[in-house]
Amino acid sequence: SAAKNSPFYPQLLQTLKNVFKLPSFRTNQLEAVVANMEGRDVFVLMPTGGGKSLCYQLPAVCVSESRGHLTIVVTPLIALMDDQVKQLRNRFKVNAIAWNAESSVTERLLSSGDVPIVYVTPEKLKDSGFARDIMQAVDRKGLIARFVIDEAHCISTWGQDFREAYAALGELRQRYPNVPIMALTATANQTTIRDIISQLKLKNPVQLVQSFNRPNLHYIVHEKKGSKISDTIAEAIQARFRGQSGVIYCRAKMTCENLSKALSQKGIRATYYHAGLSPDDRQQAASEWLEGRVSVIAFGMGIDKADVRFVIHADMPKNLSGYGNSTITRIDSDNPTRYYQETGRAGRDGLPAECILYYNYQDLRSLRTMIDNDDNAASTPESKARQKLAVAEMYSYCRNCSKCRRAEILAHFDEKFDKKNCNKTCDVCSNPVSLVKTDATDIARSVLKLVTSAGNNRANLAQGQIVEVLKGSMSAPIKKFSGLDGYGEAKAEDKDLLDLVVKDLLFKEVLDTVSVQHNNSAFHTQYIQPGPKYQIFQKELDKKPFIVTWRPK
Ligand code: ADP
Repeated sequence: SAAKNSPFYPQLLQTLKNVFKLPSFRTNQLEAVVANMEGRDVFVLMPTGGGKSLCYQLPAVCVSESRGHLTIVVTPLIALMDDQVKQLRNRFKVNAIAWNAESSVTERLLSSGDVPIVYVTPEKLKDSGFARDIMQAVDRKGLIARFVIDEAHCISTWGQDFREAYAALGELRQRYPNVPIMALTATANQTTIRDIISQLKLKNPVQLVQSFNRPNLHYIVHEKKGSKISDTIAEAIQARFRGQSGVIYCRAKMTCENLSKALSQKGIRATYYHAGLSPDDRQQAASEWLEGRVSVIAFGMGIDKADVRFVIHADMPKNLSGYGNSTITRIDSDNPTRYYQETGRAGRDGLPAECILYYNYQDLRSLRTMIDNDDNAASTPESKARQKLAVAEMYSYCRNCSKCRRAEILAHFDEKFDKKNCNKTCDVCSNPVSLVKTDATDIARSVLKLVTSAGNNRANLAQGQIVEVLKGSMSAPIKKFSGLDGYGEAKAEDKDLLDLVVKDLLFKEVLDTVSVQHNNSAFHTQYIQPGPKYQIFQKELDKKPFIVTWRPK
């Protein structure tokens, strides 16, 4: 590439090897680094794990080597900041500091020309007159070489992560007009990118926007029904991933443990890892997996390994991505259930890997309940509504059987993807079906009639029975419903269609389920009852037809 012809290239490559001990650049790193060395403003969008830190740390080391120049990195989280500083100091022997305390020591250090990189929070820069004094002093000495704005999306009021203090960073350009700025983020769509560039007043910035497409990942979705999920997963692993390294995501800690035990009993070397374990146990599980002594790890947190051949979701995650055009979720690091980021752990070595997601209506139901019951102060009614929207979006992604999954995922990041290029790397494109539109108004009416009648007659109608009752089955457990209105009313209809209508009504909250535990057993039954939208929907049915799209067998 052109960047390799830059006069800075030899020095950059040498520093990459000698200081950072890395053999080569990853996508867009060299371009970012060269543009920054040339004194240009740079905007970098790179998926998490892509290697953003190097984009500014490497030039920071280079510009400091000759003249003691300082790079000021603005970053929102003190914990991350300390982490980075520790790593720079211990691993790379770079004399970085975190500007935490307002001390004369910091001032002396920053003015000394011995510190190549200082990390600082935006709040510190904004609120402290002391910080400004120091900056001015350092500026007078001509030492400030670069500004770096990490997590730059926090400046945009479009997203969920807007931080008051970021807005003040717009002043940097006026105050230090000659200092180039690099802005980096993993989480911006086109609107946010424009917003970041205009707020930071970047001048004709070099924009390095990396595609979120992961061509070596294969996306597959299955509905959970019938057999136990541990059996289903064990079968999949034994059939296709025997002895290979994989990750299984479960929503609950108990599921992690139970699943890992069930898999072990079937001869799959599995362990589990979650936030509830002691640090020692967690460390042990992680190293067993990293060193390949066990092949599968069931967990709810992140560890990086290059040769992960499969990522399985035993439960539906709560959103497609914390990022992207809906910018729907708070980025809460305690509970990082985001489909894109989690599947992103597969195939980091570039070799093919599979991402298999198992879901059902109950996953949707329990996520909705979780959001309702969340009494965290940060969960305002608006944020709950957004989270529910995200969950619904995730569920629709799962149920969809006509749109390319890769295209759907990338659309979430405002990336256009032509499904012709999917090359059967998702279950939808490798199994194209023809869909049929059916007027299901009468079926919906029968369902409502049945549910109302069951309520009036105090009959408990299980989710697993409703289709059979509509069909008018004569089997023993169903016959007892024969007195209800609606029994047998959809005798002639296809079972799959009935099932789809019921699930659609559940999704739309026209119907709801209530979970009842049986005496002295772990066994639960889901009973159907009217949902919050029941009456509204009933009225709508009189005004417009209820059309469903489905695929007949
Ligand atoms: P991000 O901030 O984009 O999430 P990081 O900067 O933390 O990513 O980098 C993620 C990982 O990739 C780190 O372990 C880092 O050492 C590694 N890494 C970065 N650049 C390279 C490279 N050129 N070659 C190999 N590994 C790299």
